[in-house]
Amino acid sequence: MSRKTKIITIFLLVVCLMTAILIFGCTNEKVATRTDFALDTVITITLYGQSDEGLLKEPFEEIRALDKKLNVYSADSEISKINAAAGIAPVQVSQDTFDVIREGLLYSQESDGAFDITIGPLVDLWQIGTPKEGVIPSDTDIQAAKALVNYKKVQLNEGETSVYLEDSGMKLNLGAIAKGYIGDKVKDILLSKKIKNAVINLGGNVVLIGGKANKEPVVVGVEDPENQSQDRSQSNDSFLGVLKEMDNTIVTSGDYERYIIGPDGKAYHHILNPVTGYPAESGLHQVTVVTSESTRADALSTTFFVKGLDKSLEYIAKNEGVEAVFVTNDDRVVATEGLNDQFTFDSARLGSQYSFDFIIP
Ligand code: AMP
Ligand code: MG
Repeated sequence: MSRKTKIITIFLLVVCLMTAILIFGCTNEKVATRTDFALDTVITITLYGQSDEGLLKEPFEEIRALDKKLNVYSADSEISKINAAAGIAPVQVSQDTFDVIREGLLYSQESDGAFDITIGPLVDLWQIGTPKEGVIPSDTDIQAAKALVNYKKVQLNEGETSVYLEDSGMKLNLGAIAKGYIGDKVKDILLSKKIKNAVINLGGNVVLIGGKANKEPVVVGVEDPENQSQDRSQSNDSFLGVLKEMDNTIVTSGDYERYIIGPDGKAYHHILNPVTGYPAESGLHQVTVVTSESTRADALSTTFFVKGLDKSLEYIAKNEGVEAVFVTNDDRVVATEGLNDQFTFDSARLGSQYSFDFIIP
């Protein structure tokens, strides 16, 4: 084994351990599970009441195939081809790529552009990666990139499954929705194989099918945004609380996931406000969305992060089947009333750090 392979293997093992405890609870039932690195993160799929790991081959193949089409950082992805042809010509794409873009545009519309899949020029300008010292772009460059962000300038041709970006320089970036879409696709594959109980964990985007085979719910830890540096392989004590769910999908967006520290000492995170061109400052530190469809959960967690607590609660009041747990910058944890039976805040450990309430949206 080369030194590089060794380092990657050790890294994978550590991250696997961390992922394994995100979804915890002991069980004696039969389990088939597989963990792999894809989508730039650790993916674990667990089937309960099953021991045939061969069932997991196709889901992982599908994850890689979709990543190949949707990953903006690979030059031959369909998304990169659409971006390269911006202002020049429509590009014919696969049904999957067409469908994610169509759904992404619906959420862009629904959010009035707080969520915008044409955010690419701003994402590329800011280059926000893992915590490190970063360069803050000039305001002139930010304004120029911002002017290229506009989901209304994406033309879809259903008959030809083609996509056209009207202005040269426009760029799609599906970072806020692709994992959600892929989670729903994996769920469909498992359902078509008559799987009744499973957990799909795409680096923290969790999709559940039917709870455990013994009819018990799956216990999913909700991250504590202030406790990211702890070695989570040592204990389960780093969560804000837990959700007990059977069938839903659980997706979190937070400002600690990726950020750079500017020369001013301030952290600049990766969820951008298309109106200002700067990282969103809505008063939220983290938001976790619980709903039935993973594409929706992913789009909404990003949208809610940009819009802030009050506007998100207004949305939840008007839309059935969406629940959320918010963490604000002033250390409030707020869970929507619909999660009363599902969410437990770790008040014993975190009661003095955060105030916690259930709220009727
Ligand atoms: P998420 O972690 O799902 O909230 O997605 C964040 C990622 O989506 C970022 O790393 C960007 O690639 C992209 N992104 C950032 N801001 C936005 C936005 N306002 N609308 C849509 N995508 C965004
Ligand atoms: Mg998202």
